[in-house]
Amino acid sequence: MTPSFHPRLVNDRFGDPGVFVEILHRREALLFDLGDLSPLSTRDLLRVSHVFVTHGHIDHFIGFDALLRVLVGRDRIVEVVGPRGFADRVGHKLLGYQWDLVDRYETDLVFEVTELEADLTTRRARFRFKRGFAREDLGAGEAPDGLVARGDGFCVRAAVLEHHGPSIGYAVEEPEHVNIWRNRLAERGLAPGPWLQALKQAVIDRRGDAFPVETPDGVASLGALREMLSVTPGQRVAYVTDVADTPGNREAIAQLAGGADLLFIESCFAAGDEAQAQARAHLTTRAAGEIARAAGVRRVEPFHFSPRYEQGGADAMIAEVAAAFESQTRAGSRSESGATAS
Ligand SMILES: [Zn+2]
Ligand SMILES: [Zn+2]
Repeated sequence: MTPSFHPRLVNDRFGDPGVFVEILHRREALLFDLGDLSPLSTRDLLRVSHVFVTHGHIDHFIGFDALLRVLVGRDRIVEVVGPRGFADRVGHKLLGYQWDLVDRYETDLVFEVTELEADLTTRRARFRFKRGFAREDLGAGEAPDGLVARGDGFCVRAAVLEHHGPSIGYAVEEPEHVNIWRNRLAERGLAPGPWLQALKQAVIDRRGDAFPVETPDGVASLGALREMLSVTPGQRVAYVTDVADTPGNREAIAQLAGGADLLFIESCFAAGDEAQAQARAHLTTRAAGEIARAAGVRRVEPFHFSPRYEQGGADAMIAEVAAAFESQTRAGSRSESGATAS
């Protein structure tokens, strides 16, 4: 099946962390972290509809201004998700500029910021260009199952992890693909039509077997129609960075990224520098590979390598991640899995 998500690292593996995700046949794009965004074109930045920031360290947030510069003067709503206190950080960035000319514009640029807490409660705030980006509080809410964003063809789940303070891990998921067996439809004498869309939606919404579905023959239960369907899971891509190697983080990441097609995971330190990694609340290459293996992901893309290893090149770091990732991978899945050096 053609993948819907086309994610790529914004910078090289030693540069500021960040992943840009394009979605097949969709104009909108997603951005994970706002470090140095200079490799992204104006066209790329104009497509960003959702931004997911792990935490407020400068290598993850300094690119906010680059995004703002491109968007000012346009009609746009950008959803931004970050940890506790993040709305204030966005507000401080915005108030660093003088907005006395906003009346001359017809357009409005809106940032809607969601702060996620470890208990999956949220607080939301809005910043509108037309109001000189003065903060408007939108109140408290919840993110059941960690669901922090939903758009056309995707949803994003999050988990609050531990770094120096919270750092949020994210996973973008595509809805399940529901296919209809046309021959089984014909066997039951049911004509295809718009009702099949409602049937597919009922499956995607995980309705129970008793759920009523309108068919050309009258109402039938979802359970009675399931034999005409095949369901394949949608693509999943996870993004995790700036996390300490703790049992709690390992468990939470394995859950968030469990079975993902692709996991972007930080590997700041070499396997031999575990003490430094612990001191700075980051992962080693080995820990990253072990976590990817525990999560059962198909492919792992390590990034956020410390510049101290730049001389030795990225390949040595990638090899350490791959060794830990593959060391106990079942023989059957070996050929499919691996860390990639792209
Ligand atoms: Zn950090
Ligand atoms: Zn960082």
